[in-house]
Amino acid sequence: MTVRLRATLAALPAYVPGRTVPGAIKLASNETAYGPLPHVVQRITEVAADANRYPDSFSTELGAALADKFGVDSAQVVVGCGSVSLCQQLVLATAGEGDEVIFGWRSFEAYPIITAIDGASAVRVGLREDRHDLAAMSAAVTDRTRLIFVCNPNNPTGTVVPGTDLTAFLDAVPSDVVVVLDEAYREFVTDASVLDGTTLLSRYPNIIVLRTFSKAYGLAGLRVGYGIAADAAVSNAVRQTQVPFAVTQIAQAAALACLEPEAEHQLAERVAEVTTERDRVLAELRVIGYAPPESQANFVWLGNGPVADGGIDAVTFAAGCEDRGVIVRPFADSGVRVTIGTEPENDKFLSCARELRAV
Ligand SMILES: *Cc1c(COP(=O)(O)O)cnc(C)c1O
Repeated sequence: MTVRLRATLAALPAYVPGRTVPGAIKLASNETAYGPLPHVVQRITEVAADANRYPDSFSTELGAALADKFGVDSAQVVVGCGSVSLCQQLVLATAGEGDEVIFGWRSFEAYPIITAIDGASAVRVGLREDRHDLAAMSAAVTDRTRLIFVCNPNNPTGTVVPGTDLTAFLDAVPSDVVVVLDEAYREFVTDASVLDGTTLLSRYPNIIVLRTFSKAYGLAGLRVGYGIAADAAVSNAVRQTQVPFAVTQIAQAAALACLEPEAEHQLAERVAEVTTERDRVLAELRVIGYAPPESQANFVWLGNGPVADGGIDAVTFAAGCEDRGVIVRPFADSGVRVTIGTEPENDKFLSCARELRAV
């Protein structure tokens, strides 16, 4: 007899991680090019000596530090094993069989997977010019809608939603539907008109803002992210769905060390390097003849389309980069996402892009 598994698994889309190829430059997973700051590595080593003990299951000290940083009550803060885990916990906490979860598409590829695992129905609302179509997303709300993800900046297109559109959207969504503002890339936003979700917490009781230590803070391998809910009922519900001890003590200690003022300062300098490079790469790509949308994240997007319009074919383009020693992240049906690396890495990518344009 074959084992009985849930039928939903057979239809599950697979999460495709960016590939690591020995010797090649990896610009495929939106990681930072640099390792954690030296004092963070030191903290990690110190805490590792106590690894025979279970961690603080609810990351109390880290939660308190984050509450302090954002000026909220610590009950509103929830720490997770990466913010992708918090995304999944939010689906578990809000939606069941027959309920609907809305998100833009294409957006973070984990959304459809965690929704399908949960058994809820995914409602994908197409992007418009590589941006979330918030009017269409609020129009898609039904009495079955339980959760909406707004990824801002959007992964993989790097685009942002204008502040006025976001507030109009939040005004339109019923206040009993939880809205997740997934701000995994918030630290890379340089456009002052883009609203910071944490400034909306006092206005919209149904929102939760998700952030992560994986991107700007450079701790992707440690798995730690957090959510700040307007209403502690939401953060408490997320806590209820957590696997016990999901966030390791090492991750908690490393994240805490990143929040020290000197560390924040050094990390902000790294982020500034990335955003300067991002803008340079965007400008160069346009000179070469591509048409990437504006990005406010640590990556850029090249969409599929006719060469005459600056478009590419994702699979061909990614293969061409790989032949030249650069790994980017293709989405066969829609385009290629390229993480901003160090200046020499970006130069190498740009030379690939130049050669591939000439082919
Ligand atoms: C990277 C990413 C996350 C979360 O990453 P974690 O490593 O799980 O914290 C969440 N949302 C989006 C859109 C991302 O790109």
